[in-house]
Amino acid sequence: MKNSPIKHIGVFTSGGDSPGMNAALYAIAKTAETKGIKVSGIRKGYEGMIDGDIVPLEVHELQKLAHRGGTILKTARSQRFMQLEGRKKALQMLKDNNIDALIAIGGDGTFRGLLAFSEICDIPFIGIPGTIDNDISGTDYTLGFDSAVNTAIENIDKIRDTAESHNRVFIIEVMGRDSGYIGIHSGLTVGADAILIPESGEDFIHLLDKIKDYDNEEAFLVVVSEGDELGAELVASKIKEINPSVDLRITKLGHVQRGGNPSAFDRMLGIRLGVASVDALLKGKKNVMAGILNNQLRLTPFNQVVKQHSINKELQELLKIFGS
Ligand code: ATP
Repeated sequence: MKNSPIKHIGVFTSGGDSPGMNAALYAIAKTAETKGIKVSGIRKGYEGMIDGDIVPLEVHELQKLAHRGGTILKTARSQRFMQLEGRKKALQMLKDNNIDALIAIGGDGTFRGLLAFSEICDIPFIGIPGTIDNDISGTDYTLGFDSAVNTAIENIDKIRDTAESHNRVFIIEVMGRDSGYIGIHSGLTVGADAILIPESGEDFIHLLDKIKDYDNEEAFLVVVSEGDELGAELVASKIKEINPSVDLRITKLGHVQRGGNPSAFDRMLGIRLGVASVDALLKGKKNVMAGILNNQLRLTPFNQVVKQHSINKELQELLKIFGS
């Protein structure tokens, strides 16, 4: 863009990886190319920024990788960036490479890092919410959440097949350290008999009520978020206590939920937010996160982006009907 002061954008992925990050990288590189702006990739998040691990991003290469899970730039958590000394080194590396704007794809921690960085660095930063947990305010959906839910339900559907064949109780642990979004979305859509998430206190009492009368004549599926205060093992032992006749198994889906090709929704979200982040820079915006609220692009200042600890009322109602 002729009149934009921005000539060279640095982009990086940070925190946990999530499907759709590569699609966002592709969209950023493609949009920047269209506007005549150079884009470089900073590898391994803030670690690579401190070490000057900076590579060119080629649109035609990204085009072939946009459908892949993970992040081609790799990601990391950086203790060094938590220290002022580390942030000063990162700033020097950006200067040495003539980078005059940054786009970060990560979670709320990554944005807190940018806020701290803004105290010593006045180049503009834009954030894209990338985390499978969907627990960031300022956007209805984070990059990777939809794919993670799809992976979870694909696997739970398979578990149902074997559970129905043996009339077994299965406790299935899904990801979500602090957030029950994957738990509630996957639990509802697989027809779970009980859904236990960190945000709900009553779900376990309902589960115990149900399991008391369970007669081993069909499958019984319990979806538990990893952040639920009880945890899969304790839920299993309580069930056994109340109904010793059950044939029970525990399956933890684990990191399989982070991997795999992004869903159509996450690819589209990556493209929309990638384009929006470059546009925001060109409009002179800084220190904001690009998100989608009510299907509209929205920019939220980093200092208003917080970790969401509650699921909305409508989902709470669904949980009452289907999950307990
Ligand atoms: P996820 O939701 O997947 O965990 P995240 O972006 O929240 O992603 P964090 O590990 O919390 O992941 O943050 C990523 C990195 O951001 C940290 O490793 C650290 O380098 C940096 N960071 C976080 N908070 C701060 C802070 N207050 N000051 C400086 N840097 C920070």
